[in-house]
Amino acid sequence: MDDKCISVVVPAYNEEEVIRQCYSALTDVMIDTSYAYELLFVNDGSKDRTMSILDELAREDDHVRVINFARNFGHQAAVTAGINQSRGDCVVIIDADLQDPPEVIHDMLEKWKEGYDVVYGKRRKRKGETLFKLASASLFYRFLQRMSDTHIPRDTGDFRLIDRKVVHVFNRMTERNKFIRGIISWIGFNQTFVEYDRDERAAGETKYPLRKMIAFASDGIFSFSSKPLKLITRMGMLTVVLAFVVLVYSLCAKLFDLPAVERGWTSIMTAITLFSGVQMLSLGIMGEYIARIYDESKNRPQYIIRETLHYPHDEIHKHE
Ligand code: UDP
Ligand code: MG
Repeated sequence: MDDKCISVVVPAYNEEEVIRQCYSALTDVMIDTSYAYELLFVNDGSKDRTMSILDELAREDDHVRVINFARNFGHQAAVTAGINQSRGDCVVIIDADLQDPPEVIHDMLEKWKEGYDVVYGKRRKRKGETLFKLASASLFYRFLQRMSDTHIPRDTGDFRLIDRKVVHVFNRMTERNKFIRGIISWIGFNQTFVEYDRDERAAGETKYPLRKMIAFASDGIFSFSSKPLKLITRMGMLTVVLAFVVLVYSLCAKLFDLPAVERGWTSIMTAITLFSGVQMLSLGIMGEYIARIYDESKNRPQYIIRETLHYPHDEIHKHE
């Protein structure tokens, strides 16, 4: 028996169909490891019975702690809260839907014992995902890699183990709209990975509709790179060069009576629509950064905890 303690952080949003199954699977694995452990569930404003099930679990088992959010703050906020509140010597982050097989935690702990500070799960296969999700994910990670200066490993999610050292650094970062997998890569330390096959959801359906996926992808790009801004500068330079060529041509046409005027409408319309499009796009890109600066400057909390549940053993006996 080792005297180290492991925290397992599980974000849950409307997971009434799997949460119990998730609890038993995690408990089985954690008992096997022979480490002390806590299961830290973060209820992210679920509208179904998730919270009452979590309350039951907390009463049955004092390994369970539950953080209950005041409303839905999103997956990344839920994971952030879990990491912030964790007490273990290392923290494992895992989804509630059992898509990340809990048995992989054994491999992660092995690597941790070898001295690694971050062990992320790398997906070998992804079962039960739509073609659209696979294609968009692959495109996104490729794009992110080109855009960002931080190396963010492909085919990884937030399923990972992080050492307390990394947790300390993470807890000092107050950045909003966090893209956690990026931040953890950025923090550094000794990082490695274990491979696993990602399963289908055990039950229920995805809590990541397209809208959330797009918001998540924008966080990944805009909080890890200022390249889009540089792209605007480059587009601007290109436009100036082009404008100069057109200017010279128009003057020549005027002076030497070249046949330019008959085609005037087409060229003007093309130029107006194309360049207003480019300008709007550039404004939008700048807007993304400004909105993020605005969010940061308001300095609101990243999440609001309504209550934290933990029933130490004495209380459990009272219930029996
Ligand atoms: N989740 C959350 N808040 C949200 C959306 C999702 O806490 O607003 C949790 C969800 O309960 C699950 C994890 O985040 O444990 C991953 O979500 P999901 O499995 O739906 O995403 P997918 O695997 O489809 O990408
Ligand atoms: Mg899932």
